Amino acid sequence: MSALRPVLAVASECAPLVKTGGLADVVGALPAALAAQGWAIRTLLPGYRPVLKAVKRPRVAADLPDLMGAPARLLAGTVGGLDLLILDAPALYDRDGSPYLDAQGRDWPDNDARFAALDLAAALIAADGVKGWRPEVVHLHDWQAGFTPWFMRGLGATQPSVMTIHNIAFHGLTGADRLKPLGLPTDGFAMDGFEYYGHISALKAGLTGARVITTVSPTYAQELATEEFGMGLDGVIRARGHDLLGILNGIDTTAWDPTRDPAIRRFSAPGGKVANKRALRAEFGLSQAEGPLCVVVSRLSDQKGLDLLLAALPALTERGGQLALLGSGDRRLENAWLNAAAANPGHVGVRIGYDEGLSHRMFAGADAVLVPSRFEPCGLTQMYGLRYGAVPVVARTGGLADTVIHANAAALAVGCATGLTHRPGDAAALALALTQLCALWADRAVFPRLQRNAMKHPVGWEASAPRYAALYDRLAQERTETR
Ligand code: ADP
Repeated sequence: MSALRPVLAVASECAPLVKTGGLADVVGALPAALAAQGWAIRTLLPGYRPVLKAVKRPRVAADLPDLMGAPARLLAGTVGGLDLLILDAPALYDRDGSPYLDAQGRDWPDNDARFAALDLAAALIAADGVKGWRPEVVHLHDWQAGFTPWFMRGLGATQPSVMTIHNIAFHGLTGADRLKPLGLPTDGFAMDGFEYYGHISALKAGLTGARVITTVSPTYAQELATEEFGMGLDGVIRARGHDLLGILNGIDTTAWDPTRDPAIRRFSAPGGKVANKRALRAEFGLSQAEGPLCVVVSRLSDQKGLDLLLAALPALTERGGQLALLGSGDRRLENAWLNAAAANPGHVGVRIGYDEGLSHRMFAGADAVLVPSRFEPCGLTQMYGLRYGAVPVVARTGGLADTVIHANAAALAVGCATGLTHRPGDAAALALALTQLCALWADRAVFPRLQRNAMKHPVGWEASAPRYAALYDRLAQERTETR
């Protein structure tokens, strides 16, 4: 028997098995980070094809002959240190495409049922346990896990739940007529439940149903309570202000370690980046240049502000700067960036797609990473940049504001600056930051120091894992006292 205390995590993504964004990285990293703090996380995932394929010799942990009208099973297994429960429900998950979209990029029409079933399975695990294992705390990630507390209530499961918001922009909305088919409690269809302007919101279900809400940076926790960033749920967030906590994400400092990374020419100081830079230029067809080599690794969506970067680009290229961009998503943005590359041969290189290995080579070779998001709950790529000496140039919002120390005169004077920050949502402010970057880069006394500071900045889970553990401890203790 493990001496660690049991937690059930419920999520729709988990790196390295299935990933569309930072959510997967965090869900994949928390188990190792929390094990060192006395908590053993078991993660419940949908049985997508790649997940089932990755788990060798899974054991059947429970049969669920009628989970929302179809047969399903809970499988147990481990992959690379992750302890998994997998909801094997072929009618819901046995299909090609991404976790949320079909091959044409449209939402699966049954996404509400796909994730409500996951939540019901989570509640059954909390209520009945699986093979003698029962969680003390249930940790829910984003809207896909949002109905869990409501199902738990219906089944009499009293464990405390934590709802972590990785991005409040995604609500998991569905029609009110789905109340019965999804098996949701009718009393939840109310203002203080999951009703949202006549619809059902899975995210709101999580926000109103969970014992505590966390989000992935302290600044985003503050922003969520404002109309500008709350995406229509700021009122709910304000009402739950006493139960809201911002805990900064970390990155996997083993996978992202410039001294050991097998994908790059390894280095431990900024000077060691030269060979990576040469290789990166060659890979993107960029020439020699008299300015900084910048990279972007990102989903191409409105959130990420890459349309603003298109507008601000001349501030970089006119000063000899270069840009290599890797991303995919919005077709309009993909085409706009391909056009920008065609218009700036040798100076702007664009790769449309998703490529983990290439992203490592980009951070290794870059002088700077650009993250001009309109909003950013935490953001991971600025932290990869810090770790690999690619100075982050970021919008001052959410986790970006919490991880980068702006190189103003004061910070430069005391030697603590790690990057540049600028006003979010403002192409002129971004252009100014790019101009500043070029000036700093040209100062051979200053720029390597900035890179060294960046590389020293702590970006792992050292600070945040104990905060999650303290939260679990407190909630478990509270439950003991109220019994
Ligand atoms: P978000 O979750 O909003 O997409 P984050 O910065 O939190 O943004 O996390 C994005 C994650 O996905 C990072 O690990 C980043 O490196 C990775 N990523 C995004 N786009 C690509 C891509 N085209 N190729 C490789 N990795 C990518």
